[in-house]
Amino acid sequence: MKSFPKVIYKNIRLYKDVDKKDWNNWKWQFQNIIRTISELKKVINIDEKEEKNLNDCLKLFKMGITPYYATLMDKEYKRCTIKLQAVPTIKELKNDLEDHDDPLHEDIDSPVAGITHRYPDRVLFMTTHICSMYCRHCTRRRMVGSKDIHLSKKMIDNCIKYIKEHREIRDVLLSGGDPLSMENDSLEYILKQLREINHVEIIRIGSRMPVVLPQRITDSLTDMIKKYHPIYLNTHFNHPKEITFEAQKACARLADAGIQLGNQTVLLRDINDCPFIMKKLMHDLLMIRVKPYYIYQCDLSKGISHFRTSITKGMEIIENLRGHTTGMAVPTFVVDAPGGGGKIPIMPNYILSQSDRRFALRNHEGVITTYTQPEDVFSNCGNCHICDDEKYKPLDGVAKLLNGEKLYLEPANLTRRKRL
Ligand SMILES: *Cc1c(COP(=O)(O)O)cnc(C)c1O
Ligand code: SF4
Repeated sequence: MKSFPKVIYKNIRLYKDVDKKDWNNWKWQFQNIIRTISELKKVINIDEKEEKNLNDCLKLFKMGITPYYATLMDKEYKRCTIKLQAVPTIKELKNDLEDHDDPLHEDIDSPVAGITHRYPDRVLFMTTHICSMYCRHCTRRRMVGSKDIHLSKKMIDNCIKYIKEHREIRDVLLSGGDPLSMENDSLEYILKQLREINHVEIIRIGSRMPVVLPQRITDSLTDMIKKYHPIYLNTHFNHPKEITFEAQKACARLADAGIQLGNQTVLLRDINDCPFIMKKLMHDLLMIRVKPYYIYQCDLSKGISHFRTSITKGMEIIENLRGHTTGMAVPTFVVDAPGGGGKIPIMPNYILSQSDRRFALRNHEGVITTYTQPEDVFSNCGNCHICDDEKYKPLDGVAKLLNGEKLYLEPANLTRRKRL
């Protein structure tokens, strides 16, 4: 098995005297997060102008870089892809007209504080506002880094109560902040309560710890989590440089505990907006037992406009993956639609034309081919009665048009209707 490179910290001024035991202790890492310019200057070189800009930026946004992640930064190179994700720049102060505080309406779609219930059968449960890192491209900067707190027990209990009372929720995504910034006990409290709810089928944890603080993935953590299976964990690698020996070890520990790992990458300008980088990232992820899940188009949150690329770039990346490499390495490219529209998949077009029975399709090589559909295309119902269970029926959407429950969908307050 290929081993990825170990990080070296002893040659960094700020860490030269740090004991190995401390270095490998997640609490030490957590307590020593880089928050000031003077600490940062002992890790990378910053010129006067950058320092002034950084100062201006820190008046509005916080900085937080774990010592481990800081070691991945290039001391000199200004366009280092790790630096761009970790060190604030003056560009964050730029406000574009299309920017919003809460573009995804996570607060508006929130029935109780801490829960976003957008999709029928699953909820986002933001258990904490604390992260180990403040990623510069964070979509939730309206809350992360502004209020450094975990949710109170009362708020957590309210969220759990909401989930308990809504039998349609079969999937709970613990997010934040970073749920793994909580102590094992606090996290276990939540997992335990959720597992006692019969209708909760799966629990997902969204955490960037394997990337920015792999020391957090201890045996005591995975021993605790595995009591509450099925548990999935989605992490957030953006660049092949982030895949180190330490990250590999953390992912192996999770995978060995039966926790299936997925990855959500954000498409970021100057960091990974390149089909080559993305292909390498997807391959390296599979090597550390992480299945690429999503590539996100960068959201319209305030202060991150400099990270945005075109949607077309995402399509180009998928064009370069699908067929050209292992299908397992091909994530879904999605745009999280403003206004709470949710994730909308986007991919190159593979359908060239259609007739009654025939499809003209093209593959990744440019071969144009056909598929002839059967003459009798109707599915026969086997009367298995799975459909009697309400939870398998669509509540809304085009699926309802297809099953005949609805003849059409129309926007609320259609002007034409008002004329009647
Ligand atoms: C992304 C997201 C989910 C989960 O979506 P999946 O496609 O199931 O991974 C759930 N709720 C909200 C609000 C989300 O943004
Ligand atoms: S094309 Fe992509 S992989 Fe090649 S040098 Fe440019 S950014 Fe790097």
